[in-house]
Amino acid sequence: MKILSDFDGVLTDPSPEAARVKEVFYNHFITLPGTSQPQMSELWEQAQNQLIHSPHQHGWKSGEKITAYANEDGFIECNGLAACLDDMVSKAEKRSLNVQNSLKQKEFSNFCEMSQFAFNEVVKETSAGRHHPLDPSAAIVFQTLLSRGIEIVIVSNSGTERITNLFLQRCPGLLQSSENRLRIRGGAQKFVLGENSDSFEVGPYVVHTDRPKYQTILVEEKPDIILGDVFSLDLALPLQLARRKLHGFEKVRLLMRKRNYSPQWSTAYFSHTKGVSCGLFESLDDLLALI
Ligand SMILES: [Mg+2]
Repeated sequence: MKILSDFDGVLTDPSPEAARVKEVFYNHFITLPGTSQPQMSELWEQAQNQLIHSPHQHGWKSGEKITAYANEDGFIECNGLAACLDDMVSKAEKRSLNVQNSLKQKEFSNFCEMSQFAFNEVVKETSAGRHHPLDPSAAIVFQTLLSRGIEIVIVSNSGTERITNLFLQRCPGLLQSSENRLRIRGGAQKFVLGENSDSFEVGPYVVHTDRPKYQTILVEEKPDIILGDVFSLDLALPLQLARRKLHGFEKVRLLMRKRNYSPQWSTAYFSHTKGVSCGLFESLDDLLALI
């Protein structure tokens, strides 16, 4: 049996790191040279309100399309906020000139780049030991799964180095003792959307499933079980492949880790899906009981 698992949010608690990304992003945003703090503060508030009032229109962009929604986790909220700020600035011409010149002075093309910079800073902080996101149960649960003869591949948008370092900091023996039955495929780019409009609707949310980079990995790995916490990024494409009975995906089991940040629209849709084996779990100990 093979499990393909996401990393952030499944094997970590991403909330403290995500809150820190937002803080670093805000600190750079509010002190942008050549802008006034009250003006920038108002802009930030307006963008936050837009995310709250029309969540289906905001998120992490891949080209012009939304690849994951701002309410799906705290990291994506920052991406969504940045994209919304870029949109607002480009629509308000006079202010736009002001802000865009200021961004250039700081060597950012836009707020999406600033938010990505903030994320990278927090990855460095974590690597330096400032944050400890790994779930305390991850090592024992994975050890148990490996001891049952199960193969595990971690497929994540995060870099392989970040994931490896977190395992080495918290459970150094795990990777060595796994005899290559625990592999890490970081930089998976699940967020990259292709040209076609393959998607399905969940209420007002359009969930895109043309994810060529992720699909290549899924087809290479052909897992029996897929674990994720963000519906759009981790589970929507495998769900589509299972519904279409793509070879190797007819019997795949999909399990979503339900977190305190998981939006109701995605957990409700996922748990009521018919014809494909879908389930929710709240803790890694609960997961063990399901496998
Ligand atoms: Mg995740």
